[in-house]
Amino acid sequence: MEKLEHIGIAVKNLDKSNRLFTKLLGKLPYKTEDVPQEGVRTSFFDVGGIKIELLEATRADSPIAKFIENRGEGLHHLAFAVDTIEDKMKELSGEGFHLLSAEPKAGADNKMIVFLHPKATNHVLVELCTERVIGNQ
Ligand code: ZN
Repeated sequence: MEKLEHIGIAVKNLDKSNRLFTKLLGKLPYKTEDVPQEGVRTSFFDVGGIKIELLEATRADSPIAKFIENRGEGLHHLAFAVDTIEDKMKELSGEGFHLLSAEPKAGADNKMIVFLHPKATNHVLVELCTERVIGNQ
C-alpha cells in the first residue's frame, strides 16, 4: 500500500454532515459527487493530504443504506492508494484476502476501486484505490 488515501464515513444526510465537518475541520469540501452505480452521493475534505469522504445513500439498496441500517452512521472504510490495482488484488487474493468484486470499479474522485471483505480484515472495510486513467473507463 502506498498511503492512506482517505477515510470513508457513512452519513444519513450529506448536507447536514457537510456543515458539521466544515465546522469541525475549518474548511469546505473540495468536491461533491454522485456515484450512481454505487447508489451514493459523496463529498471530500482534504486534511493534510488525507481525505475524509462522507457517503450518503441515494437508494434503499445502496451498500451505505444497508450499513447505516445495521450499524448506524460512522466510520465505514479505510482506503489505501496502490500503484497497480490489478497486481495488488492478485497479491492480496494469494494471501487469502477475499475481494468483493473480481474487477476494479469506477469510484468517486476519479478513482478505480475495489473492496476487501471485512471478515478477513478485523471487520474493517478496506478499499484499494488508484487514479483512473482518462479514456480507460
Ligand atoms: Zn472510499
